[in-house]
Amino acid sequence: MARKVLTNEAVEFETSEGVEVIPTFDSLGLRDDLIRGVYAYGFEKPSAIQQRAIKPVLKGRDVIAQAQSGTGKTATFSMAVLQCLEVQMRETQALIMSPTRELAVQIQKVILALGDYMSVQCHACIGGTSIGEDIRKLDYGQHIVSGTPGRVFDMIRRRHLRTRSIKMLILDEADEMLNKGFKEQIYDVYRYLPPATQVCLFSATLPHDVLEMTHKFMTDPVRILVKRDELTLEGIKQFFVAVEREEWKFDTLCDLYDTLTISQAVIFCNTKRKVDWLTEKMREANFTVSSMHGGMTQKERDEIMKEFRSGTSRVLITTDVWARGIDVQQVSLVINYDLPNNRELYIHRIGRSGRYGRKGVAINF
Ligand code: ADP
Repeated sequence: MARKVLTNEAVEFETSEGVEVIPTFDSLGLRDDLIRGVYAYGFEKPSAIQQRAIKPVLKGRDVIAQAQSGTGKTATFSMAVLQCLEVQMRETQALIMSPTRELAVQIQKVILALGDYMSVQCHACIGGTSIGEDIRKLDYGQHIVSGTPGRVFDMIRRRHLRTRSIKMLILDEADEMLNKGFKEQIYDVYRYLPPATQVCLFSATLPHDVLEMTHKFMTDPVRILVKRDELTLEGIKQFFVAVEREEWKFDTLCDLYDTLTISQAVIFCNTKRKVDWLTEKMREANFTVSSMHGGMTQKERDEIMKEFRSGTSRVLITTDVWARGIDVQQVSLVINYDLPNNRELYIHRIGRSGRYGRKGVAINF
């Protein structure tokens, strides 16, 4: 029997008591200029997570929200943040943090698009860009800042990002943000925020240890969680190719190349070096591929993202810098050339395909 549709029908959530399901954008009570932006962006009906999580955020509650990849979490907090703004006051009222620069920029773009009729200022405050430009933008006044922790903290410390009017802190990919690598930086930022700041966490994966530490900085949060065994999207078919020797993976990939280019594909390796090596080798064999990792300059990264988003390039070889959050709807195939090191990363990687109910394929070597 076919199971429920991926995005709008009831995936089973485990929610705190009192969480309502609001079936339409109109019944969410959003402001007219925001509703207009939402419909203009092409959304007709809220997804499952939007139906459940927007309301508690609007009520000012701390919220922990989990939903599968590509089911509209970004749009959930974007709409909620926009709804809560006092636009006539050009001070930063919401701070959104995410683990990669590309994701922070993507979020900024979604907010600007949904808020198209609201005259909203939203700045992407990310590393690898001009500090002077950042300062200029922040001094001008930004309602919303979407950034990565390092640069955000730097701007707060230098008092260009003023925190006194911040009402909301959103952590996207929250489990990653509260992981070893980022946790200290998040706390550094958190200490500068007004004590009453509302905190909301979003991710497709929220392991137990992360949920347990949330009491340190959240107050009586509303929880909207997905059952562990419902976390992978039904629409993504998963395959395993038993390649007996590492050296044979390359030929296997070459055999698949025509399949990769039917729409768009992302190939994951576990290290930057491996990405460079595989890219080189594919090009030597006359295949067209592009590649991206954190060792490249931001300018290069931007260029590659632009090409891939526009569909000019169709096969991207990359690291886990691309594992979380990036939304390119045409990606229908993910290949794990190397298997990821943990279950969460696997869920996020394969979630680059099958966006918003589309079909996807994941192939594991
Ligand atoms: P997530 O953050 O859960 O991974 P996103 O917010 O990036 O998912 O949404 C995935 C895709 O679905 C995006 O391309 C987004 O524009 C689209 N989307 C989100 N919400 C809706 C909606 N209510 N109706 C139609 N498309 C939507």
